[in-house]
Amino acid sequence: MQKPDHLRAPLARDLCDAWDAPVFSSYGATEFETAFCECSAQQGGHVHPELMLTEIVDDAGNVLPDGEPGEVVVTPLGVEGFPLVRFRTGDIARLHAGHCSCGWQTPRLGAIEGRLAQRLKYKGTTLYPEMIFHVLQEIKSVETCYVEVRSAADQTDEVRVVVGSDAAVDTKEITDFLQARLRVCPEVHVKDKPSVVQVMEAAGGRKLQRFFDFR
Ligand SMILES: [Zn+2]
Repeated sequence: MQKPDHLRAPLARDLCDAWDAPVFSSYGATEFETAFCECSAQQGGHVHPELMLTEIVDDAGNVLPDGEPGEVVVTPLGVEGFPLVRFRTGDIARLHAGHCSCGWQTPRLGAIEGRLAQRLKYKGTTLYPEMIFHVLQEIKSVETCYVEVRSAADQTDEVRVVVGSDAAVDTKEITDFLQARLRVCPEVHVKDKPSVVQVMEAAGGRKLQRFFDFR
């Protein structure tokens, strides 16, 4: 059995709590001409095998077993003008083949765990910034945050988490929580929220930038 946090993004849970209403996630891209949508059981987005072949692969393109995280590769079957075969999405997720309580027995795609291009090599572990954000989202005092990565001399990555909050923040609580959930803990810095937001805005993106890659 997979842990539920691979099936649902924390944002979905937060929206459910905030609105006191069911929230259903979907995942797709223009190229797919279809999407993976959650059913009433909210246990990942169901694959539509009649519309698209879905694979999870390792770096060499080998198909991984169910429940293993890897790159989502799709072959849409309904796209005629611009056919795609084994289109690499660059997104990392897992497929779950177990029975779904909704009664529909197609595999389900779990929450997107990160972008392949943002993969971090940290203390012998593979991490994605999205995994760090997912964990921090569970800590009430963390109002905003970003992640910085630099190359270390030993070919690994130096990962720094900058937390912005105007509330009282216990840095040790954050590091302990990250350690418990990720099994490694990046360096954590806490600053006031406006100065953290300023850095994220200064990147000039349409949305606040949350990941700074200096490798
Ligand atoms: Zn279902």
